[in-house]
Amino acid sequence: MAPLIDIRKVSKTYITGSFRVEALKEVSLQINAGELVSLIGPSGSGKSTLLHIMGFLDRVDSGEYYFAGHPTASLGEGRLAAIRSRMIGFIFQSFHLLKRTTAKDNVLLPMVYTGLGTNSHKALECLSLVGLSDRVKHKSNELSGGQCQRVAIARALVNDPLVVMADEPTGNLDAVSRQEVMQVIRDLNARGLTVVIVTHDDEVSAMTDRVIRMKDGVIVSDESRKRAGQAPEAARTDLPPARLSFSPSEFFEQLKVAFKAIWSHKMRSALTVLGIFIGVGAIISLMTISEGFMKSLLSGASEDDAKKVWVTPSWQHNRPRRRFTMGDVETIKTKVPLAEKVTPVLTRDLKISAGDRHVESSVQSREGYTQEEQLPRDKFFENRKLTGRFFTRTENLNKARVVVINQTLAKKLFDSVDAVNNDIRINGINFNVVGVAEDGKAEQIFGGNPTAYIPLNTAAKRVFGSTRLNYIEITAPTPADAPETRRQVILALRSERGAREGAEDDFDVKTFEAQIEMFKSTMGKLSLVVYSIAGISLLVGGIGIMNIMLVSVTERTREIGLRKALGARNSDILSQFLIEAVVLCLIGGALGVGLGYGLGWAAYFFIKVPPTLGAGTISFAFGFSTLIGVGFGFWPALRAAMLDPIEALRYE
Ligand code: ADP
Ligand code: MG
Repeated sequence: MAPLIDIRKVSKTYITGSFRVEALKEVSLQINAGELVSLIGPSGSGKSTLLHIMGFLDRVDSGEYYFAGHPTASLGEGRLAAIRSRMIGFIFQSFHLLKRTTAKDNVLLPMVYTGLGTNSHKALECLSLVGLSDRVKHKSNELSGGQCQRVAIARALVNDPLVVMADEPTGNLDAVSRQEVMQVIRDLNARGLTVVIVTHDDEVSAMTDRVIRMKDGVIVSDESRKRAGQAPEAARTDLPPARLSFSPSEFFEQLKVAFKAIWSHKMRSALTVLGIFIGVGAIISLMTISEGFMKSLLSGASEDDAKKVWVTPSWQHNRPRRRFTMGDVETIKTKVPLAEKVTPVLTRDLKISAGDRHVESSVQSREGYTQEEQLPRDKFFENRKLTGRFFTRTENLNKARVVVINQTLAKKLFDSVDAVNNDIRINGINFNVVGVAEDGKAEQIFGGNPTAYIPLNTAAKRVFGSTRLNYIEITAPTPADAPETRRQVILALRSERGAREGAEDDFDVKTFEAQIEMFKSTMGKLSLVVYSIAGISLLVGGIGIMNIMLVSVTERTREIGLRKALGARNSDILSQFLIEAVVLCLIGGALGVGLGYGLGWAAYFFIKVPPTLGAGTISFAFGFSTLIGVGFGFWPALRAAMLDPIEALRYE
């Protein structure tokens, strides 16, 4: 049967600068299963180096190492991690327990890296083996040195290793604790466990069965005091395969570690996520506001709006390039078959007064109001409440001085929407208020413009002194007809004007849909500005994350070394730090969503549009935060993953 450990002519040389240290010089050594061996020698004689090589924490420069009968030279990182995880239990001089972590959780740690899930029962069993059943819930800082080392022994046992390797396990202990720890180790050996202890203490080596003495990188003596009993059966001698999966229990462990790390540096974490917080906040505020706008616009829009087509003059140098006449209205009426209704609109901005109050107001006049029947449900006001009445056809013909005002104007003039029958002056001409209309949806959104509606004839002949129209409103039979109606209107007006092919029009024809598109494109331009600012903030935030993660990796170098010694793969370390970076970013992102939504409501006081926080916005924020976490956390995490386990463990 092959020895458990078979080292043949192994050399290891360290080169620091121009300095060469031959830590091991062609060392050969065999250790059988079931032995209790001590490696003893003065400091610097190469004991730890040999132990690290035997424990797959370090590689040989030359020579061969057979473990449980298998050559090990060609094993990859994943295989070595699996062997450390499943076959070897390490014990260190300085215990290397996780800080502020209970004895039980420390013992559970190696199970995380087996991929088989953790088993509390097994952890408790191991703690009881080392006589610590009554200290399970104690944290590492609440235990004595001897107790800490016994926790570390329990941790080394928890995955049922083939061999336990201890590097100066009693070096930090007083005489009593040393005795206790050595007794535990002897008991374990008596149960069949192979143990290799590195020590420089003769009293410790005296408690082992075989003493291998080293000096200057070579073995100078090898004495067995007692024949190791019959070596136990070599049943479990296949080397475990590399673990390829990433188990849920490991994920939860890593989440826990991430939150613990973040929580234990609250202030630092808060400052770190500030950039993400502000950047995401800026983006989300814009998104909620713009989504709110869209929602209000669309909910305010009736099917009636969607049927409408507006003809407006195109503008040049802040002036309309032409005004429409009633002739244009006639042209559209006759040449656009789809035009169900054609409404000329005159509007002017004029001063309206009541008593000593004066309000700059928009005065609109439409043919559509001037029908004989009083039309409390005129199409234009379909969704709006009207108190009082509209003017009649007779009033239009007679150029009557009657007016319907909106609530905004009523409030400005009379401090009340209850304004029917009051007298007002438009441009100095007296009018009687016959109706008060609720503000339109658009007005509610954009903050109510004072508006007055008067009959067309009154407007043209008494008030404006002109019949030049501001725009013409056309109603198509259905919303689906709006684009075709628009095309017909353009054709009609172009042929009316004898415009040549390709000549620029002096008018615009818009549909409701096009208005929405225009709004979207305006928002798009505004977004670009906000997104650039947010982008800079996120970049700075990301760099902050990277910086803090680098600090975190440095601070936890020894912990990383320990995790690797306990069987963590490079990818386990990588994912752990990536998860920490992502959690940081997600915290920043979540707070940023809150900030953005809050800003959206703050904006509500100015623009009167409630912000809308949709699922899309939220997932965007979280997706984006995750991306930043992965993007900026990757390099620090990779640095952690690539750390050499021995150097990491030694890091001061
Ligand atoms: P021991 O455990 O017997 O005290 P080590 O195996 O730790 O000795 O070290 C053997 C020799 O190798 C020492 O001279 C030490 O200085 C040197 N050595 C060990 N590790 C390194 C390293 N990472 N870099 C440079 N020299 C090292
Ligand atoms: Mg040493």
